[in-house]
Amino acid sequence: MLVPTTCFNCESACGLLAYVDPETLEIRKFEGNPEHPGSRGRNCAKGPATLNQVTDPDRILYPLRRAGARGEGRWERVSWDEALDDLAGRIRRAIVEGRGNEVMYHVGRPGEDGYAERVLAAWGIDGHNSHTNVCSSSGRAGYHYWMGLDRPSPDHANAKVILLISAHLESGHYFNPHAQRVLDGKANGAKLIVFDTRLSNTASHADWWVSPVPGSEAAILLAIAAHLIRERLYDRAFVRRWWNWQEYLEHERPDLEPSFERFEQALAELYADYTFELAEAESGVPAATLAEIAAAVGSAGTRLSTHTWRSAAAGNLGGWQVSRCLFLLNALLGAVATEGGTHPNAWNKFVARPIHTPPHPETWNELSWPVEYPLAMNELSFLLPHFLRERRAKLDVYFTRVYNPVWTNPDGFSWIEALTDEELVGLHVALTPTWSETAFFADYVLPVGVGSERHDVHSYEQYDGRWIGFRQPVLRAARERLGRPVGDTREVNPGEVWEENELWIELSWRIDPDGTLGIRRWFESRERPGEKLGVDEYYGYLFEQSVPGLPEAAAAEGLTPLAYMRRYGAFEITAKVGPLHEQAVPAEELEDHRVNGHGRVFTRAAPPSSPNVVPLPTPQPDDEGRRPVGVEVDGQVLRGFPTPSGRLEFYSRTLADWGWGEAAIPTYLPSHVHPAELEPGQLVLISTFRLPVQIHTRSANAKWLDEIAHTNPLWVHPSDAGQIGVRTGELVRVETEIGHYVVKAWVTEGIRPGVVACSHHMGRWRPEGEVGQRQAMQTVSLDRDGSRWTLRRRDGVKPFDSSDPDTRRIWWSDAGVHQNLTFPVHPDPVSGMHCWHQAVRVRAAEPGDRHGDVSVDTEKARAVYRRWLEHARPATSSSPNGERRPYWLLRPLKPAREAYRLPSAPRPEPV
Ligand code: SF4
Repeated sequence: MLVPTTCFNCESACGLLAYVDPETLEIRKFEGNPEHPGSRGRNCAKGPATLNQVTDPDRILYPLRRAGARGEGRWERVSWDEALDDLAGRIRRAIVEGRGNEVMYHVGRPGEDGYAERVLAAWGIDGHNSHTNVCSSSGRAGYHYWMGLDRPSPDHANAKVILLISAHLESGHYFNPHAQRVLDGKANGAKLIVFDTRLSNTASHADWWVSPVPGSEAAILLAIAAHLIRERLYDRAFVRRWWNWQEYLEHERPDLEPSFERFEQALAELYADYTFELAEAESGVPAATLAEIAAAVGSAGTRLSTHTWRSAAAGNLGGWQVSRCLFLLNALLGAVATEGGTHPNAWNKFVARPIHTPPHPETWNELSWPVEYPLAMNELSFLLPHFLRERRAKLDVYFTRVYNPVWTNPDGFSWIEALTDEELVGLHVALTPTWSETAFFADYVLPVGVGSERHDVHSYEQYDGRWIGFRQPVLRAARERLGRPVGDTREVNPGEVWEENELWIELSWRIDPDGTLGIRRWFESRERPGEKLGVDEYYGYLFEQSVPGLPEAAAAEGLTPLAYMRRYGAFEITAKVGPLHEQAVPAEELEDHRVNGHGRVFTRAAPPSSPNVVPLPTPQPDDEGRRPVGVEVDGQVLRGFPTPSGRLEFYSRTLADWGWGEAAIPTYLPSHVHPAELEPGQLVLISTFRLPVQIHTRSANAKWLDEIAHTNPLWVHPSDAGQIGVRTGELVRVETEIGHYVVKAWVTEGIRPGVVACSHHMGRWRPEGEVGQRQAMQTVSLDRDGSRWTLRRRDGVKPFDSSDPDTRRIWWSDAGVHQNLTFPVHPDPVSGMHCWHQAVRVRAAEPGDRHGDVSVDTEKARAVYRRWLEHARPATSSSPNGERRPYWLLRPLKPAREAYRLPSAPRPEPV
């Protein structure tokens, strides 16, 4: 039997087809699902390796509770009932006692649009925390300030020029779906420009590989923009219609007549200094090369597809200006939502409406959204140990869910200190399919499913189209096809591995068994009032009621929408979406409307219920409570963009009003690792790149992947290696602000002189004891002397006996080094993103140093935290509206408007 599902290994959610033996009901293999519009039947190596994750002999099969002290490594098996009753009792008490925000759900890979957020909203708490500020917040921020949406959707396949600031064939955001379309574009004659200091696989396919000084990317982009402006290669009509140039002139150049021609003059003046020579001085890339690239960009017209995500945006202080400056090129050329251009993500994404939608919580969690970072794109998750230590609040129940902050985040020893302090974290619950460095410090480890063992729906912007994908427990679907109904996913998954949707429903019922807290009703069946909602009803409703075209497509095959999705695994809603901002707003949506001075149109009409209308974030209403519905452009009311102005915001009034006037337009902010900031002898360390076959901490349980890639040497240019006195394979010490690590050198011309690079995904470890991933985790000792920590390898990876004979064939012993432990936190004061690049010294290893050694002083880490905190510009009672944060900015699990108000702020007059 072929049963579709989707891969859970990275955020792309590619389609998989499980080959299930109908006799034994075992999964034989996974291949790509050709019915999936995003991945089109193709996967990267991590997709088929889902099979390894299912059969991994070290996987967690049953709920476990710690038997000794937290972190001691002794575990006992418990029943799901025991674990859930304990959790439900604590959570209920916290809610009843008004301490709901002491319950926190901290997510790594979400896997579904909004399910957990709705659970937390039903509990009435602001308890969502994410990994995004160690991942993509700066990339998002640059886009968000332009278009009100925080992600780009490039149409690479139809582009004339593709410009990537990242390694999209191996580590871009939508990895395989983008990689195949980048290659389609190249096959169709597109030119590929790649900015990447490191010679990535993508760079090796490029027509122009640019290896800039880390942090100088925005300077190059502005030099290209200046060329487009100087040579008048930009799309004047697009800029006039869609940029908020009037707002810019009004606030920044009141001396000028408010005409488009004067704006063009101002624009030319703004960027006149960004010459190719200036960009060369900043980036080290020859001006002549930059001029060639600028000419290529200028030749693309509306077929310029661009994308950046982690990479430079994630590495640098002010990195959010990299995506802001990159999108400036699209905005100049009018290559926005065009064929071969870059689309706003919501144009190419579909979020289905679920059966129940609880209201926004009426509370604000200061631990996740501290007052110091009012503009942060996401939760200040990586500062949590510092906030707890400062006693800003404590956690009673802390869920880490498919998330491994001890390993993934910077400053992991501070995480261990917080997680082992029961005064700071009352109960830590790790929801995880596999052992992680964080799960070792949990009170409960609860096993949840891999990609073929759980339900989720998702939709991602991977081309100009909209689709919805369905992850499902394949053995459940297989049994049901054989006419053998399944009650609960634990019946078909290995051991007692559970899917989370059923788990959250069950836990929520136990928190509110009689419904008196008002929680249970959000988890009740509509078909069977008073009974628990089941996953068939949940997804059946969602596919039936809110996915345009799906009921009809299913009916044509004599299937229900749910049965259709169980059979095909994905559905394409629209193949070509195009420029939705140009759509006219129908007259019925303009009831009692008002137009402000910049053409923003507000209405009292209710939002349309039709699911065909693209779901958008909710920008700020006007003073009389009307919602923004469109924008007047050349006398027509068009949908526009979900920004305050309704236009693309070249000038962000929000940034200006919240204290960042100097960065309100696309600009170049020198990085914390700018050459002027480095001390003599320091190099820049790039730690943000992925290996193509590993994904954070979710793939160490895949033997095929571990065999291909299991270590992370330090890339060193020959000129630097000569100075250090090191050759390939020899050990070096990499010294950061708070400690050092020891790693093997790899001498290569694939990196700029003055820069070193070390991949993440590696350096997995487990303390001595019985549990952990043996095929990829080295065994280590952890020693503490006050604030000084050391991690030392005791045993490498080695062959072992298990149910899988391949584990006797393990030939590698090296598992790399856990470098993130040695990085202090670097929160960007605007986006909130951790700025990953490090200024380091690299020396030959000392006698006694061993590969994988890590040494850190967490007191130094706290000093760095305090230093970066000083750069923040907090919200105050005199911030706009006396609020903590601009209401229009996206926020996962958005609280009610009232919760935005700072306690000391004056209350507004009622309208
Ligand atoms: S890991 Fe590979 S196959 Fe899986 S979703 Fe990501 S790109 Fe697709």
